[in-house]
Amino acid sequence: MRGYINRTTVSPPSQTQQQTEHIEFYFVLLARQCIELQMGSSQQPSLGEHLDDLCSTLQCLLPQLLSRAHDVKAQPLFKVAQPSDYARLRQLSTPGPPSDINQVIDDAFAIADFRARMSHPRAMAFIPSPVSPYAWVGDMLASAFNTFAGSRLQGSGSSIVEKTMIDWLAAKVGLPDTAGGIFVSGGSMGNLLAMALARDHRLSRGQQASGVIYVSEQTHHSVSKGLRILGFHSSQIHHIPSDDGFRLDPARLAAAIRADREAGLVPFVVVASCGTTNTGAIDPMTEIAKVCKRHGMWLHVDGAYGASAALSATHSHLTAGLCHADSISWDAHKWLFQTYNCGILLVRDRTTLLESFASQGDYLRDALADDEVPNFWDCGLELTRGDRAMRLWFTLRVIGEKRFGEMIDHGFALAEAAEEELGRLRDWEIVSPASMAILAFRFAPGDKTDAERDELNVGISKRLVAENVAGVLTTKLRGVVVMRMCAISPALGVDEMRGIVQQVDKLARGVYGDAGDS
Ligand SMILES: *Cc1c(COP(=O)(O)O)cnc(C)c1O
Repeated sequence: MRGYINRTTVSPPSQTQQQTEHIEFYFVLLARQCIELQMGSSQQPSLGEHLDDLCSTLQCLLPQLLSRAHDVKAQPLFKVAQPSDYARLRQLSTPGPPSDINQVIDDAFAIADFRARMSHPRAMAFIPSPVSPYAWVGDMLASAFNTFAGSRLQGSGSSIVEKTMIDWLAAKVGLPDTAGGIFVSGGSMGNLLAMALARDHRLSRGQQASGVIYVSEQTHHSVSKGLRILGFHSSQIHHIPSDDGFRLDPARLAAAIRADREAGLVPFVVVASCGTTNTGAIDPMTEIAKVCKRHGMWLHVDGAYGASAALSATHSHLTAGLCHADSISWDAHKWLFQTYNCGILLVRDRTTLLESFASQGDYLRDALADDEVPNFWDCGLELTRGDRAMRLWFTLRVIGEKRFGEMIDHGFALAEAAEEELGRLRDWEIVSPASMAILAFRFAPGDKTDAERDELNVGISKRLVAENVAGVLTTKLRGVVVMRMCAISPALGVDEMRGIVQQVDKLARGVYGDAGDS
């Protein structure tokens, strides 16, 4: 698919080649400019760099990086350092006398080899990260400029981009003009900040100890982590059982809130999920919002994974309920094809951010914001912060909104194809149908007990990974072990996905046969 790193499925290689050269050319140019800036006119290496050497090193490095990214398909899905590798990795990690830069680059490749290829088209465990090469270039640009994105004084250009991206995303999910937000490291940080906002705007002084937070049993664990950091006790987090579709049940929620109020507690926030990590379930946000409104509670929606569907060309209706949220966390480093450390917190009312997070050090007094350009250091936790918005802006600018939406849509198509294919095969059970490109299923031959099936599915998953067929790991749903796939790579064709399911079936029968023999 165009605009995507592993472009073999759609684009001719010549175009890739051209683009690679394009990117290389601009990078060497950029590096030269950055280094010249640091060295001044004296041409004395002020930070130890030798301009020409560095340029030729970069000229070699960039095609190497791009082709490694392009060839990711041929690489192992998981490569984990074993105890026998530790000594060498420790030795490489230890600083010492100066070394040749090319040697150090080789070392960096050796170190990075021990990683899961989260951008592999067949990476389907956790939430994969099929990074667009344009995101990567945008990230490199941001890193090269190293703009201080905390204040208008230091980074007005990038602050305007960040604010514009926030406004654009907020409009996409239907938040009103009062909305605002900030780019953060990811969903965990977004959830933590949102819980602080809910506390500050829905609890009065002295109420923290009796405040109650409502989550479902499928809510991401980062929410509880954030709450504990903020000083809430885990007994203040009330888990509402989910319905058959793993969604938070609004009727049970309302009943729990009433009971807690009668007991003298102070319900103040509900965390709904727009795309749970386990099954891609979408909580009924509109009904939950009604309950929140009735009780004057804050509604936070964890959309770290699923909010991205709002940008899809054909599935944006699934996220319609996001418009009711007081805050939304959203990861661009998941389904928006960005490099890591790119998350977003959106809020319904941007003044809430300032009320909770603005502070003034005396030495910051000259860096005043204006209405158009906020000082982002007042909107979140970080003072010094890099430009996280540039890569998303860059990707969208290069690819265009339409293609970007199609890339998201492709994930839905992959999961639906896998579900359809499994439905045609004997002994397979769909435990949670395709939702937000996530599918949970298990191999359940009739002659096996539940415990044996659990073991069988663990065995199949291990073989799938060992044989590099697909990064499909297991999870537990309602007490049974299931396999889970989250496939969102635009580089994986739908027919390829069907082929993978056939391979999974074949391999499962092999494992089953082996188990039957023993
Ligand atoms: C990934 C995820 C998180 C955590 O986000 P990070 O970016 O990993 O910190 C939170 N909630 C959901 C639903 C997620 O999928």
